Amino acid sequence: MPQVLTDASGNAQRDRQSPSKPVDNIIQLQSVSKTYRNGSQALIDVNLEVKRGDFLFVTGPSGSGKSTFLKLLYGEECASQGEVKVDNDFPAKLRGDRLSLLRRRIGIVFQDYKLIPRRTVTENVSFVLWAQGYTRKEINRRLPAALKMVGLQHKAECFPEELSGGEQQRVSIARAIVGTPPLLLADEPTGNLDPDNSWQVIKILKKLNQIGITVIVTTHDESLIRLSNHPVVQIRNGRLSSVNY
Ligand code: ADP
Repeated sequence: MPQVLTDASGNAQRDRQSPSKPVDNIIQLQSVSKTYRNGSQALIDVNLEVKRGDFLFVTGPSGSGKSTFLKLLYGEECASQGEVKVDNDFPAKLRGDRLSLLRRRIGIVFQDYKLIPRRTVTENVSFVLWAQGYTRKEINRRLPAALKMVGLQHKAECFPEELSGGEQQRVSIARAIVGTPPLLLADEPTGNLDPDNSWQVIKILKKLNQIGITVIVTTHDESLIRLSNHPVVQIRNGRLSSVNY
């Protein structure tokens, strides 16, 4: 299991490899602070390095800055201070097509699934590929693999309202990974699910991590974190630190 280290200022850092072999960090935050326009200080002096292929939990109470942290990674918000680097790009410096290209390399899963109501599972998952200009042949190749990964091949023609919450969340995971991104961000993915469905979702995320996808999950479900056996960082009042469970 990769080690989470804490640097001199109490911030979490990933273990460094020998100087001869540069560390392949997919995420790097250096002295990052975020203050919203209304004066809310969501993040304060956050330093974090996440290696390619890691699985990291981000925990902390509601309002502590977890979603803001993820939003900085996919360029929905920009840091007020400091630098955010994701997959060798700086999201805050990208606009238009270049930001879209970075976002294609980031799968995102939300607590409330965000599925299109009057579209089938197949349509929901393939929509993103259509929008990116994939050919029908390529979509037909990718779709069954994504649905198989989340165990929903048999629900391909169902509408979201015909699925349980757990199944809807699994559709949203299929949609997030159908473009084979190297990075998957999940913002409270189990927040609306019972323990069994929550664990099923985490098992899928673990499986995706095993095939090489870097996974970052925010949650305040400590039992899930304990069961999962992955490194954890905590955000409290905007400050990030490492935690051992
Ligand atoms: P969490 O995901 O841990 O619940 P958030 O990142 O959503 O925390 O919020 C951190 C802090 O930033 C909170 O005080 C919240 O009210 C504030 N905040 C979040 N989004 C905005 C926004 N768009 N405008 C102003 N304040 C915000």
